[in-house]
Amino acid sequence: MRPRYGPLAERNKGNMADTTTTIHTDVAIVGAGPAGIFTALGLLGKGDTRSITIVEKGLPVEKRSCPKAKVGHCIHCQPCRITTGFSGAGAFSDGKLSLSREVGGDLPELIGHGADPHVEGLGHADEVAEIRRRAISAGLKLVDCPIRHLGTEKAQELYARIEKHLLDAGVNILFETECEEVVIEDGVCRGLVVRNRDGETRVEAGETIVATGRRGASWFDSMCEEHGIGHVAGPVDVGVRVEVRNEVMERIPIRIRTRCAPSARTPAAL
Ligand SMILES: Cc1cc2nc3c(=O)[nH]c(=O)nc-3n(C[C@H](O)[C@H](O)[C@H](O)COP(=O)(O)OP(=O)(O)OC[C@H]3O[C@@H](n4cnc5c(N)ncnc54)[C@H](O)[C@@H]3O)c2cc1C
Repeated sequence: MRPRYGPLAERNKGNMADTTTTIHTDVAIVGAGPAGIFTALGLLGKGDTRSITIVEKGLPVEKRSCPKAKVGHCIHCQPCRITTGFSGAGAFSDGKLSLSREVGGDLPELIGHGADPHVEGLGHADEVAEIRRRAISAGLKLVDCPIRHLGTEKAQELYARIEKHLLDAGVNILFETECEEVVIEDGVCRGLVVRNRDGETRVEAGETIVATGRRGASWFDSMCEEHGIGHVAGPVDVGVRVEVRNEVMERIPIRIRTRCAPSARTPAAL
């Protein structure tokens, strides 16, 4: 039986300008954010020799820049250069990696590629206990976690090295290419239907991983609904930056401040 490519392929039948090509890959990954990138790195690191194709609707990391910096306002790029492209939604953050499963899972332990291994905020158990005590009395929970801080430029340099590493290792990255359909046949995922400015491509894959982040959550939800796939939403960390007067911060030792302030978990009541 031919794989079913969903309503999109049906819609495009007979449209000669919109030719459909087919590529084959052992592993297809949708999304070149941290989840997709570290899936590919993990496979390579284990010596997996299967072919890998990553489908990413945004740009390579070295081409990601927001026009707002030049023109002064958002010109609504499609897709948004801030939230899409190699390295995903946090590309323009300053790369604070929280070393706690309560906040960031185990991603920071996986970082290499020249990232500064220095960890902020270890020790100080007594001071942390005192802050925790005050937080509890203010009805707050202190999530005490050490942090690795890459820095804005450093994060992009790091991701540029990772991008090159993947390409050099033979990973096929399809940029400016959006995944539109997950192909399910007889209950088995057979691959994807993707689209770029040249038209539609069928990506036939032995295994498919969807890592589309928050940006792709609605689309992935609709895919699961369409194919009757059970799914649950993951937790969302919401960071709140609380700015307080220096007199308040002076009560917190400097080493702890560097840890608390970037993760924006410093309760105002402290
Ligand atoms: C402003 C900001 C600052 C942040 N700062 C930090 C920080 O300092 N420290 C930290 O640990 N975390 C930070 N985060 C959170 C971090 O960026 C996310 O947890 C992380 O990016 C999630 O990774 P992901 O791979 O799951 O998803 P994403 O990073 O969202 O990557 C998903 C990728 O999939 C692509 N995609 C989506 N749908 C499709 C489709 N249909 N076809 C093809 N491609 C698709 C998107 O273009 C995107 O590149 C920050 C986030 C933001 C927005």
